[in-house]
Amino acid sequence: MQVVLEGRDLVKYPFLKEAQWYIKDYAASIDTFLTSKPGELALRVATSFIESSLSFRKSTGTEISVPDYPHDNAESRVFIAGYALARILLSCYGDRNMIERFCVYQAWLFYHHIQTERIDLVQYIAEQFGMEYRSHVIPVPQYVHIIASVSDAHWRLINRHVVSGQVFVEQDEFLELMREKLATILRDQLPLRIPEEICSILTPSLDEIKSLHQERMIEEFGPVDDSAYPPCISALLLCLTQGGYLSHMARFAGTSFLHNIGMDLVSIIDLYGNAPGFDLDRTSYQVSHISGDGGSGTDYTSPMCATMKTHGLCVHADTLCATINHPLAYYKRKKMERAKKERPLMRKNIEGKTKERPDRNSNPSRRRDRPT
Ligand code: SF4
Repeated sequence: MQVVLEGRDLVKYPFLKEAQWYIKDYAASIDTFLTSKPGELALRVATSFIESSLSFRKSTGTEISVPDYPHDNAESRVFIAGYALARILLSCYGDRNMIERFCVYQAWLFYHHIQTERIDLVQYIAEQFGMEYRSHVIPVPQYVHIIASVSDAHWRLINRHVVSGQVFVEQDEFLELMREKLATILRDQLPLRIPEEICSILTPSLDEIKSLHQERMIEEFGPVDDSAYPPCISALLLCLTQGGYLSHMARFAGTSFLHNIGMDLVSIIDLYGNAPGFDLDRTSYQVSHISGDGGSGTDYTSPMCATMKTHGLCVHADTLCATINHPLAYYKRKKMERAKKERPLMRKNIEGKTKERPDRNSNPSRRRDRPT
């Protein structure tokens, strides 16, 4: 089907091929564009896209931050170029967690718009996704692929009405599935292969998003709390501090975990001080490399439980381990549980203190010290 797409539509749906055609002049010589005025503006849009992705957490019910869309064509072009640059920046950075957040944010932003969108445009986008809006049915293989990363039991095939290989969905559910479909499309596309020269031109913006990422991680994980480490990480750190041998993978798992929860590089390097054959320069290089500060440009996320198991690093797993699939999720959950337990205790202490607070006038020492 054919629809007329204008700049004001394309800024809301910058992933459409029409949006990319709209900025084809910019894409022709990206290095020249990046050093131009529109290029600078587009980089600002790109950074704010990434910032919004980092702030958006659908599990906590955060409101989606909707960009302030431009109205004229020139600004719309810059805006769409900003979306393209955000993808380039994330690809140069290479952090899977950042990419995932970007995909989820873009999918939910799309969902925000599509719910009030004109019907021909919804149909057109569904068609671009390989879905048929009017039919209200989705073939099982396509459905399974779309919901692969959705955890809500409501979407499980076993809970759906399926006839002759087709899954029936309500109209509002169809829009939700379009949202999930966009997330899977973006996940499949990213990271892009970006030439080294382009990534080096983008170094200042990459540094900016790196510090944004670090800031957000520290905010989310809070101050480093070693009593909340998962058993695997406690075990490998114990081994390290007692001078035991750690494989390359174990070092990678420990370093990336500590970096992800916000421990500074000097403290991480310090932990390696007892390792057999400790070499300050080599350790500094390795730690900086894993944390993306040594010119690698890649900020690594610590391995998932499945990978830890494969490498024999999943040790002393406890009951909490059975409910998570990532050591970082263990750490976050443990801290949250502890904070919940401590909250009523703190309140009780505060209330207790309030009751016991002595009357200022009845305190003889205060009376004595008060000037007359
Ligand atoms: S299940 Fe995960 S968090 Fe728990 S010990 Fe194993 S790897 Fe670590």
